[in-house]
Amino acid sequence: MNQIYLGLGTNLGQREQNVKNALTGLAHFCTVTAVSPLYETLAWGVTSQPSFLNFCAAAQTNLAPHTLLTQLKQLEKTMGRTPTYRWGPRLIDIDILFYNDLILNDDRLTIPHPQLAERAFVLVPLAHIAASVRHPQTGKSVEEMVTAVDQSSVNYYAPAPWPLEN
Ligand code: AMP
Repeated sequence: MNQIYLGLGTNLGQREQNVKNALTGLAHFCTVTAVSPLYETLAWGVTSQPSFLNFCAAAQTNLAPHTLLTQLKQLEKTMGRTPTYRWGPRLIDIDILFYNDLILNDDRLTIPHPQLAERAFVLVPLAHIAASVRHPQTGKSVEEMVTAVDQSSVNYYAPAPWPLEN
């Protein structure tokens, strides 16, 4: 089994329902062991965008990294499908943050996630479930990384809807 950490974000439609649907979908190919609280992050750049809900999940999987990515992209696609449009907007973004201590860089996949250390909206929730996990390239813990970024645009929103109700 491989220990993975995922970063998830949603800013369209029923955001909390999207969170639940993502966790339900992940359970088809991972064993989710912990989920951070949900944080709301103001979208910057394009300010007309709705704000994001961001959260992180710890999970175990027997899938190899590229197979995992394929499954995650498939889940994103499935969730983006709406009854009115053939392919609706993508309602969820799922990134692989860590995969064991793996360091990987090819045309499809970079692990650890390349923007991890600079993204407060990833590090703040990640610190809830992986404070002592260390970046395999820099040696810095998530706790150390989160204290180094500006957290002012990332606001606590709600506990995670997890474990999921039946
Ligand atoms: P996105 O725009 O976030 O959906 O990501 C676009 C592409 O980034 C994906 O299709 C992946 O091939 C690539 N990618 C590279 N590294 C990662 C990673 N660690 N997690 C998720 N996607 C990644």
